[in-house]
Amino acid sequence: MTASGIPQTRREARELVVLFCRRMLHEHLVSYTAGNISTRIASEPGLVAVTPGSTAYDTLRPEDIVIVALDGTVVEGSLRPTAELPLHTLAYRDRPDVAGIVHTHSPAAMALAALGMDLPPILHGLIAACGGGIVTAPYARGATEDMATLTAEPLRHRSACLLRNHGVLAIGPTVEHAYNAACVVEGVADAYLRALPFGPVPEVPADDVARIRETQWAPAWADRGAAPTHGG
Ligand SMILES: [Zn+2]
Repeated sequence: MTASGIPQTRREARELVVLFCRRMLHEHLVSYTAGNISTRIASEPGLVAVTPGSTAYDTLRPEDIVIVALDGTVVEGSLRPTAELPLHTLAYRDRPDVAGIVHTHSPAAMALAALGMDLPPILHGLIAACGGGIVTAPYARGATEDMATLTAEPLRHRSACLLRNHGVLAIGPTVEHAYNAACVVEGVADAYLRALPFGPVPEVPADDVARIRETQWAPAWADRGAAPTHGG
């Protein structure tokens, strides 16, 4: 692992993806084979390690993780990469600052995604993990280039967005950052849905949103060059 938290070799990248897949399953962010995870490989900047499609996480092995080029070509691995590969390759091509991606189907976040609702900055943790409230990307068919393209704007100044009628997409300067963002989105979405029946849910004051963004969220991206430290 490099100092920046990006795995150095294909082997390290595969082991890291498997580790976070197990966490994703145990923490109920997905069930069975849903969702997917990928990471850049520090020693081979043109390649990423990504989960295979339709493979159960509890028996997933490092050798099952597929190594692909940023154009989607399989470089190494005996399984097919996830059908949602464009969500990963497009973000890596467009964003040199992104080195880890986590896509989940977590229940409370999926409820918001089904309703087409955004998740406002109602709790401090969401701002620290994602940079502020997050929005639901416009509708697109699953596993298409369109679905990937439509996430570019919602993710421009955030570490996560919701995919309409689908789930959660989280990005980060490391897989760990993206994974944390996906976890926090689920927790805050659950709190939001519990609070909503009692009336409008107040947001964190705007000046505190800005303060938390600058002191807690932006530094995580700061080492990665194109750090998105500003924006609404
Ligand atoms: Zn999905």
